[in-house]
Amino acid sequence: MENTKELRTWLDDMKLNHPLVIAGPCSAETEEQVLKIAHELKDSDVSYFRAGIWKPRTRPGMFEGVGEIGLHWLKKVKEETGMKTCTEVANAAHVKLALEHDVDLLWIGARSTVSPFIMQEIADALAGTDKIVLVKNPVNPDLALWLGGIERLYTAGIKNLGAIHRGFSTYEKSKYRNTPEWQLAIEFQNKFPDLPLINDPSHITGKRDMVFDVCQTALDLNFDGLMIETHYDPENAWSDAAQQVTPDALKQIMVDLKVKKETE
Ligand code: PEP
Ligand code: MN
Repeated sequence: MENTKELRTWLDDMKLNHPLVIAGPCSAETEEQVLKIAHELKDSDVSYFRAGIWKPRTRPGMFEGVGEIGLHWLKKVKEETGMKTCTEVANAAHVKLALEHDVDLLWIGARSTVSPFIMQEIADALAGTDKIVLVKNPVNPDLALWLGGIERLYTAGIKNLGAIHRGFSTYEKSKYRNTPEWQLAIEFQNKFPDLPLINDPSHITGKRDMVFDVCQTALDLNFDGLMIETHYDPENAWSDAAQQVTPDALKQIMVDLKVKKETE
């Protein structure tokens, strides 16, 4: 990949004086839930509102997302709050619908990054788009798969790119839901130093009371942003109930975080 400086133009153009913040529920559940959370996040550092519409669940029989109707709710979020919107896409059909409904930023989930076939299908469906596309690390600690996913998108002409570090599955017991393996994130930064790198403390920790510390570590390591799952009633969320924080808690996290200055 040449000319990698241009990969961060989308982020530099936002001229934020703080890390990029993406927040919103793990899953869009109802129109009321989506809009209530969005309104509670409106006057905060959040630039992009996230909500999963198609949910990749490990075992069948759980809530698998509301599907296409959720894209109409995201459009309302944009109209009513001015926040930009984002959702996960996991195949060409999702990409087509998300682009038709003008979702501003699409992310590729950890279970998709592991599959070169799916990554290629998504890259082909996105070819030439100017939407922002973020690639989560694969579920397993395989740096090459992560880099390969980014390269497939770049080769398909997608220039507004970034990555999300969401930790890695392990067989060993750990205090984390997905261990951060910070060294691997640092290796990623060394390979693609200009590519915006966002941290996802929610899926790393799996527990809301650990979210702050992971955010702080990420900022200390010069991450460009944070994606934090946020719900007004986390305990009763339809997915990832243990890790979501309330909008008020999110705002407090942003106040408490120490952001490194360029000169440090
Ligand atoms: C999510 O962001 O809700 C999600 C499913 O994440 P991941 O792909 O990191 O598991
Ligand atoms: Mn989630």
